[in-house]
Amino acid sequence: MKFLTTLALLAPLVASRSVNVEESLGPRTEKVSYNGYQVYSIRAADKSEAEFIEKRFATYHTEVTSRGFEVAIPPNEVRSFNELGLNARLLSDDLGEQIRRENKAPVYKRWLHKAGHLPDLSWYQTYHPYEDHLQYWDDLAAAFPKNSKKYELGLSYENRTIYAFHLFGDKGEKGNKPIILWHGTVHAREWISTAVIEYWAWQLINGYKTKNKEITKFLDYYDFWLVPFHNPDGFSYTQTTDRMWRKNRLPRSNTTCIGTDLNRNWSFEWGGEPGTGAASTNPCSDTFQGLAPGDTPENIAVSSLSNKLGKSRKGIRSYIDLHSYGQKILTPPGWTCNTSQYPATLPRMLEVAEGFANAVQAFDSRNETYQYGTGCDIEYYSAGNGRDHHYGAYGADHSWTLELDPVTSGQGGFVLPPENIWPVVQEQWAGELWLLNNVWKN
Ligand SMILES: [Zn+2]
Repeated sequence: MKFLTTLALLAPLVASRSVNVEESLGPRTEKVSYNGYQVYSIRAADKSEAEFIEKRFATYHTEVTSRGFEVAIPPNEVRSFNELGLNARLLSDDLGEQIRRENKAPVYKRWLHKAGHLPDLSWYQTYHPYEDHLQYWDDLAAAFPKNSKKYELGLSYENRTIYAFHLFGDKGEKGNKPIILWHGTVHAREWISTAVIEYWAWQLINGYKTKNKEITKFLDYYDFWLVPFHNPDGFSYTQTTDRMWRKNRLPRSNTTCIGTDLNRNWSFEWGGEPGTGAASTNPCSDTFQGLAPGDTPENIAVSSLSNKLGKSRKGIRSYIDLHSYGQKILTPPGWTCNTSQYPATLPRMLEVAEGFANAVQAFDSRNETYQYGTGCDIEYYSAGNGRDHHYGAYGADHSWTLELDPVTSGQGGFVLPPENIWPVVQEQWAGELWLLNNVWKN
């Protein structure tokens, strides 16, 4: 393997920048406790109540799902929350307890790993520290030395390197293959997205090494580009300080609030239509869009690669931005609900999304269902997101946000129990196999 190849094109982006990490953590450096936090799902009665809820909980950790607006309420605010008289359903009576149950010691033993072999699948029984993930990716690449390259795309705000891995077969014309592009760990707390991209990489490498006909065909026909950690600072912060952190860790002037939502910061239709709540201009909000389109170091780094791939001869055939939770496949657009702006190829996009969802459901033995549709139709307005950008700016044929398990906070939300990692990664691979077989031409 050609180790740590830096894309010449991207060289200026890795220029060093000195950062005081203490300072960047902002006012909060002690570990955040969620003991006694209650998670509620709220259904707004009408538009004005929806606006009230959004404003009232703008600085809380929230998630909008198809079943309602989910918010974690601190124990000392539960009474005043109930006095608001909202149509709210209790999903979890102790988020802290869910986080404690999630925190299982790894079964995976790195010291038993044989150099040049694929890592043991016990990796998927628990979650792992950030440094161990970096080692895991190096072990994956070392098991596929002639058919993988590791690239440095640039630095995060806290100077962590953002890596991309290129996986390819022996056959096929270099630079003339349709691109398959995956992004993981965009939102810091969505840990299952990290496991899924790792398992997909493991399956590709294992299939090619064992001469599996189907996988060999895929690696010879497509070029695979994987960015496992779009937001390494945020992910690290969820492990050291705040399990429910979503954004990056970039401070802004004139505010003590930290972080920009990297999935509202992409430049295509950044900000969205006024009054739709597609992104926030409040730096304290979980969906803060930044001060200018694409003004985060992480999106600058990652978009340089996407821009290059978008201009390649066959272009980006399938882009998947892995997220959780909600069990949905979202296609463009999210920035508008005006159907005249819908992609001309939307019927084809939905056909592939349906096939993927069916394949996941067919494999699954837990009776899981996956919805699919445009972001606008089945989720909510969101502007400056990765899928709209990869479709709008780079012309990806299929451009998705894949919201992984579970459906609600009641089933763990972002804190998916570790025993669910293994079934989820396998189900998602069944979906991806279907996709790779069915986007051959478009
Ligand atoms: Zn997300």
